[in-house]
Amino acid sequence: MTIAGEDLPHFFKVGRSWASTMKVAGLVTRYALERAAGHPRGLRLANGNGLIAGLWAAARRRGIHVLTGACVESLTLDGIAPARVSGAVVRIGERTVRYTARRGVVLACGGFPGNPERRAHFYPHVPQGRAHHTLAPITNTGDGLSLAEAVGATLRTSLSRPAAWTPVSLVPQPDGGVVGYPHYIDRAKPGIIAVTQEGRRFTNEAASYHDFVHAMLGVEGHGAEEPAFWLIADHRAQRLYGLGAAPPAPMPLGAWQRSGYLLSAPTLHALAARLQVSAAALEETVTRFNGMARDGSDADFNRGADPYDRANGDATHAPNPCLGPLETGPFHAVRLWPGDIGTFVGLATTPHGEVLDATETPITGLYAVGNDAASFMGGSYPAAGITVGAAMVYGYLAGQRAAAAQH
Ligand SMILES: Cc1cc2nc3c(=O)[nH]c(=O)nc-3n(C[C@H](O)[C@H](O)[C@H](O)COP(=O)(O)OP(=O)(O)OC[C@H]3O[C@@H](n4cnc5c(N)ncnc54)[C@H](O)[C@@H]3O)c2cc1C
Repeated sequence: MTIAGEDLPHFFKVGRSWASTMKVAGLVTRYALERAAGHPRGLRLANGNGLIAGLWAAARRRGIHVLTGACVESLTLDGIAPARVSGAVVRIGERTVRYTARRGVVLACGGFPGNPERRAHFYPHVPQGRAHHTLAPITNTGDGLSLAEAVGATLRTSLSRPAAWTPVSLVPQPDGGVVGYPHYIDRAKPGIIAVTQEGRRFTNEAASYHDFVHAMLGVEGHGAEEPAFWLIADHRAQRLYGLGAAPPAPMPLGAWQRSGYLLSAPTLHALAARLQVSAAALEETVTRFNGMARDGSDADFNRGADPYDRANGDATHAPNPCLGPLETGPFHAVRLWPGDIGTFVGLATTPHGEVLDATETPITGLYAVGNDAASFMGGSYPAAGITVGAAMVYGYLAGQRAAAAQH
């Protein structure tokens, strides 16, 4: 993520556009030089890196001291009813330090994506035995929620969905582990479809990642078997757009195929056998999809009908930027799993981040922002940015309220 959003289209046009090839060569060279100079990561500031760098610089200018490797273990209370949060007990290595907060404590521990118990409680598919893979830091174990609950806070749970869902594929690593890969835009590209283990499409593949996973969760398994989902591309689409982590041309695919991430076969029939999907059903699905793709209209799921879909498609592809037939072998598949990029269920707060108790009264001196606070979107996900944007805005409001507090 040392590239900006506007750089991304150039990566898809390497080898096809002179300007894009030069742009990418420049970015890659800069990155290589910075790594060769001994930096543990690229130094170019774009996207989240740029945002955090700006905030970090602002904090430094104000002389704010940032502790890393410091774990908040509990909150301290002052006074008798109504008590006020007056500080925090923090473990720093072997030491335990009590900090006093004059204005307030702001919790921003990133929600509970790495907390198995809370996931099992709030994600309905988890107790049903279905796998779930988070892409958020698994070290975000819900401490902010627990710290606040210990001083009387309540959670807002009445959200339409408990987390920001994202379909994930699992990339095998040399150490035998896997790393999750988010499928944000490949699903919307022409020549790519998603099917169930029955070889049938089940939703509009170009829908937002949040809605796509909602559709996955609506598919029933057979008996004890967990439903499986496959993203399938023909060779042309894979080479143009990539499929998950398997990159587009000119990058080779051999390593992805050998690791078992990318399953490939010369024909759809042979691919179906590899995936243990009914070949007849898959061929029927692709034949029907190809006809609709040529007409530019998805009569089954309306893919490519709205601006969101089309923005993630291929603007140069007609008649519909999201619909292209799968016809050129070999065919490729990547398995998809339900996952998330962060939690929505969180602490009940006022718009100024004041944490509420069971009677909906603010707990004096306690604030929560980011994913520790319940999402202001109520569980829906209209667009990327509703989490970081809200963290910025509500963080600012909470800071203002705390700074003005008289206690
Ligand atoms: C792959 C991916 C893509 C995303 N894309 C977007 C996007 O495009 N737009 C968008 O808006 N959002 C996006 N998000 C979501 C967004 O990144 C998160 O919602 C956001 O970073 C959460 O911010 P936060 O401050 O709540 O938590 P975090 O940024 O996770 O920070 C929480 C911090 O608290 C620390 N912590 C936890 N417990 C304790 C403790 N007890 N004591 C001290 N520290 C503790 C953690 O170590 C961590 O440093 C994406 C997320 C992922 C995973």
